[in-house]
Amino acid sequence: MKKLVISLALCATNSLFAQQNWLGNTSPTYEELIAHLQQLDRSHKEVKLYNMGPSDYGQPIYLCVVNGHRDSSETFEKARQSTTILINNAIHPGEPDGINACLIWLDQWIRAGKPLKSHDGGDLPVIAFIPAYNVGGMYNRSSTSRANQNGPEEYGFRGSTKNLDLNRDFTKMDAVNTYTFVKIFQALDPDIFIDNHVSNGADYPYTLTYISSMKERLAPSMQALTYAHCIPTIKDYCQIGNFELFPYVELKGETPEEGIVAFNDLPRYAMGYASLFHSLSFTVETHMLKPFPERVKATLQFMNATIAYAIGNAERIEIARKEAIQWSQAQTYFRFNYQMNEQVKDSIRFKGYKAVYPIHPITGLAQLEYDRKQPYEKYIPYYHFYISQDSIAVPKYYIVGGQETKVIASLKANGVEFQTLDSFETKTVTCQFVKSYKAPTRPYEGHFKLSEIEIASSEQAILLKPGDILIPAQQERAYFIHAVLQAKAEDSYFTWNFFDSYLQQKEYFSAYVFKAQIEDLLSKNPELKKSYEEKKALDIKFAQSEWDQLFYIYQRSPYFEQTFMRLPVYELND
Ligand SMILES: [Zn+2]
Repeated sequence: MKKLVISLALCATNSLFAQQNWLGNTSPTYEELIAHLQQLDRSHKEVKLYNMGPSDYGQPIYLCVVNGHRDSSETFEKARQSTTILINNAIHPGEPDGINACLIWLDQWIRAGKPLKSHDGGDLPVIAFIPAYNVGGMYNRSSTSRANQNGPEEYGFRGSTKNLDLNRDFTKMDAVNTYTFVKIFQALDPDIFIDNHVSNGADYPYTLTYISSMKERLAPSMQALTYAHCIPTIKDYCQIGNFELFPYVELKGETPEEGIVAFNDLPRYAMGYASLFHSLSFTVETHMLKPFPERVKATLQFMNATIAYAIGNAERIEIARKEAIQWSQAQTYFRFNYQMNEQVKDSIRFKGYKAVYPIHPITGLAQLEYDRKQPYEKYIPYYHFYISQDSIAVPKYYIVGGQETKVIASLKANGVEFQTLDSFETKTVTCQFVKSYKAPTRPYEGHFKLSEIEIASSEQAILLKPGDILIPAQQERAYFIHAVLQAKAEDSYFTWNFFDSYLQQKEYFSAYVFKAQIEDLLSKNPELKKSYEEKKALDIKFAQSEWDQLFYIYQRSPYFEQTFMRLPVYELND
């Protein structure tokens, strides 16, 4: 008994000590963070800390779940059935504001007696947070990697152990961390998702800005929920807390006065990924020049406002998500390649600091600065309309070659339903041939990511084999499936180099042998003969190059390999 009293007293002291710690200019190391949460897990049945799987660093990624005590990490039954908020912290460990905010929230909730109901009887949602996601980056601590940031004293590094930016990895899944994240996300099926960050860029008075998913990419019900209801309500809640919420300041030009643009949250980002599954998604960006404790407080206020919104609108959120899932399944076209519409501009009232260009005493050059002694408040242009430049008819089924094990593993991890073929069968399918593409000269996030892709499609009889998979396109994960399998979509597997091996010709011809065959080939194919003669007459370079002429005929002959430039993703419509 005495032992219990002592340990309880210790626990209370630790909790108080802890909260004071999280309120200051320091953020815990990964070990301190996990040790603290393990202690809370031991002391409170409403708080559970789960080891959810590995990171590239070797150390596990954890998930702390509050008010989900009937769950297990296998089922997360309660999270799936009630309203759930998932918060991701330290995907960029140099930006640890969310870590402290979640710890303070947890301490305050415990000290308030662990209430499961609001004053007016609403249920507390399941609150799940990843204490720190980029584990490798958490261990790579310094006080200097964020040159312009005002605290904390020490923090982790943006890159992962493999020097990846994990916030670009959600479709390509190069990091082990991403598999663990996807496992968490798919298990919880969160209604609301928050990814906590700290911004770089212009100086202005707002401590916290938010990014919401690009409205044009959302299903109508989620677009209405996000923009017509959730954001205005959260704004009001923040106002009550004497804290002003403003959209992320993504500059159109050099300064805010030239206007700001809505962020295009492609599926490679955590928020863009979450919105493919119709979660109400936000990225929180506190401002790097504001002191760390102030940033933490703002992050906590946003979290509290979101929780209050979830308590008051559980049914509304559930209905909007259900409608979005049904809507996305029923779409016959998939739209992508969204570009900002510069013709339609709105304006927004903005509090800023005047941009000035003093001559620097050392460099002797005029440099942009923001003069805090000259604040202003005025309307600035706000570009928040996007238009999709491309769309594609959705097939009934996709077929992926069984040799594409990484693709299949990723689809599986993301909860995509498919059937695996167990016998050989010849089927007429629509094949995608890559006509052209561009590859950069420098890698981006471990890839020479392809762009400016041109695709030609044609019907071919293909021998499908055991192990190939058949994916019905009209299913819950429809948005995700199109986003990764449609070659031209911005973050498709094709753009991320999954299918580069199909872009190289394997067999060739010897010109000195092949030229003896062309007369025969042309006489058997009058159409080819005609196009060849026309090209020779019009194209001087072609007319003077024996190799170009031979290749032109070879490429159009039965000798040319059928698989060259043909992607291992087919479409089936019957
Ligand atoms: Zn960040």
